[in-house]
Parts: sequence; C-alpha cells; structure tokens
Amino acid sequence: MKGQLQEAFTELYGKQAVDTFFCPGRVNLIGEHIDYNGGLVMPCAITFGTYLLVTPNDDNVFRFKSLNFNEQAEVPLQSSYQKTGETWYNYPIGVIDHFQKNGKRLQGLDMLFYGDIPIGSGLSSSASIEVVTAFALNQLFNAGYSRLELVKLSQAVENKFIGVSCGIMDQFAVAFGEENKALKLDCNSLEYEAVDSNLGNYVLAIINTNKPRKLAESKYNERVQECQTALKALQQQLDITYLCDIDTETFNKCKNLIEDETVLKRAQHVVEENDRVKLAAEALNDNDLTEFGRLMYASHDSLRDLYEVSGKELDTVVEYAKTNPDVAGARMTGAGFGGCAIALVEGSAFEQFSKEVIVYYTNKVGYAPAVYSSLIGNGVGTLNEAVKS
Ligand code: ADP
Ligand code: MG
Repeated sequence: MKGQLQEAFTELYGKQAVDTFFCPGRVNLIGEHIDYNGGLVMPCAITFGTYLLVTPNDDNVFRFKSLNFNEQAEVPLQSSYQKTGETWYNYPIGVIDHFQKNGKRLQGLDMLFYGDIPIGSGLSSSASIEVVTAFALNQLFNAGYSRLELVKLSQAVENKFIGVSCGIMDQFAVAFGEENKALKLDCNSLEYEAVDSNLGNYVLAIINTNKPRKLAESKYNERVQECQTALKALQQQLDITYLCDIDTETFNKCKNLIEDETVLKRAQHVVEENDRVKLAAEALNDNDLTEFGRLMYASHDSLRDLYEVSGKELDTVVEYAKTNPDVAGARMTGAGFGGCAIALVEGSAFEQFSKEVIVYYTNKVGYAPAVYSSLIGNGVGTLNEAVKS
C-alpha cells in the first residue's frame, strides 16, 4: 500500500513524500446512543482508515489531493479559513484553521490522502481524516498538543467548522485505539480503560448496508431531545445530571415519573445499554465471547425496539447472523438508519459468512451489502507505528 501511495504522490507533486501517517476508522462494539447521555461506550480502532502522505513546500500554500475524490485544491497559507461548499478538503482545512487560530506556526504542505475505509458509512472516516491531519501537523511543526488535545480539536473542527454535531467518541477511538483492545470510555470524564479484547478464533466482520443515511441527522436530534425530556422527568425526584447516572434497578423504581410512552422506551434503552457495556467489559476480561455476543444481540434488539434507530437493512444483517452458528453476536453500530453492522464471526467460517450474508441481504433488500473483516488496530501514528505497514 505504502509503495503505491508513494508512487501516486511522486506522480502528482514530482517529489517524494517525506512522511506518511495513518489513522484508523472505528466501530463501536457496544454502548450505542450513550455518548450524549454521559455513560459508557466501547469502541475500538479498526485496520481500515486514512493515509496521509506529506512533504513541506516553500510556496506558502497547502495542496490537497485525495485519491477518493476528484476535486483537488490549492489554498494559500493564511491566518484563518472559511468552509467552502461541501468539498472534502474542508476537513483538513478546518484542522489547519484551528492550528492557525491558536498561534501554531505552520508552513506550506503538499498533501495526499487515501482512505481504504468505506466513506460516509458510519465507520468515522471523518474523524479519521481530521485526526490524521491534526496528528501530522502536530508532529511536523512541533505544535506540542497532547493526544487528548488533538482529539478535542478534531471534534471541535467537526462541530464548528464542518457543522456536524457529534460526541467525542469517534475522535477518541481513532486516536487512542490499541491493537486487540476495546476502549471502555466514560464519555463524560473521558477516563478510559483499554480492555483486553483478544478475539481468539473470531474476526470482526463489518457489513456495510450501503444504505444512504438520509434520516440520520433529524432522527438523531430527535433522540437527543427525547433523552432530555426523560432526564427532566427523572430529575423531579433524582439528583442526576445524565440518564446514565442511574442503573437499571434505580430506573425501574422511578420510571413512572416519565409519562410519555415513547420517551420511556428511549430512556430504558439508554439505561440498560449503559449497564450492558459494564457486563460486556467483564465478558471480554473473562474471554467469554459467547456472553459478549449475547450482549451484542441484546443491544441490537433494544436499538430496534426501544430506541427505534435501526431499520430493515441493519435488521436483515442481524437476522441472518442469528441463523449462523459460527457467529457469536451481531449488532448495528453507529447512529443507525443505515451505515454498518458488525458481527463476531469464527475466523475459518468468515468466507462462508460473507457469501451467505450477501445472498440473504440481497434477496430481502434488493441490493448487495459490502462485507469486510477487520482486526482491532492501533490509533493514529506514523505508518511504521500504525498497524498497517
Ligand atoms: P463517516 O461515517 O465515514 O464519518 P461522514 O459523512 O461523517 O461519514 O464523513 C465523510 C466525509 O469525510 C467525506 O464525504 C469526505 O468529505 C471526508 N473524508 C473522509 N475520508 C476521506 C478521504 N480519504 N479523502 C477525502 N475526504 C475524506
Ligand atoms: Mg463521520
């Protein structure tokens, strides 16, 4: 991979790239729609992501090219930038803007991006391109940001410069991911534990439904609102700041405070899902993938029935998984309404799984999904440190 990218760089810019960086994408293993409710999530970095090859120039310009998109750009080095339309290079420009506004001294750069990750499918290619750019600038110009600061500034770029409201989980996972570890992350305190996730004979299958996520944003905002309503109702009696401040037992005692039936279902998902993350971490610690798989299925069922963020496409993948004895568990991952599902599949059965899920899904949905197998990889780094070398 690196050789081919180096060739592409040389062809484009007529010189060698002096540095290559890689930032993975992520999947959330369990803990969905929890980040904005102050609870626990459990993402991990995957071995697909975004490469960035770069060489400084003396021309005081930033040149942007991505092998995934046709548009390329050249913009002068200046003290601040505006978002231009909907072009992909808003992401690296947003990061540069942040460095500039914070007084970090930059120099012109020739940059080539390439993502081997499905883009726009819920595997956080956006966090990946933000963090790889931030990491590269930090290293090339000795800007002195800590890894956590890079996470926060990348999230700020996505929220403010790009204009997408997202929690911190994605940027955190792609920056702090560790090989064969899941990150049990408290989205509130940002304390985390890297939980040993030796998948043993299993591989992580990623099934991209290839469904455009049209409804995702408005429904996402609606869920955030519903959780707020539930929280307010519970606060009449409980001294809590987030829904995830209580466990299922407490919730069951107080849930009659929530009058609206829909709001009640949303809150029940959140509280139970947060408890499931704790159980899932224990299961991983015990190397009990059967129990972990059971929790994945329970998570999916809850997202389908209580939180209502799944859909025919994601449900079809999980429905198939349940018929296959070589699958320990499966669930939708990410915000829902399309995007990707994940499954823990016995390694030697992966090819068979892949073939069968494609046939099953295509028959039911009318078009094919894409299926990948991934390892749990490292977070952002220079290419030699990162998993893919
Ligand atoms: P995702 O679920 O993949 O994060 P988003 O819609 O949040 O989906 O982000 C996808 C956008 O991120 C792309 O449309 C593009 O603007 C940018 N992006 C991601 N990866 C790349 C890449 N390799 N090259 C250029 N732009 C990229
Ligand atoms: Mg994204």
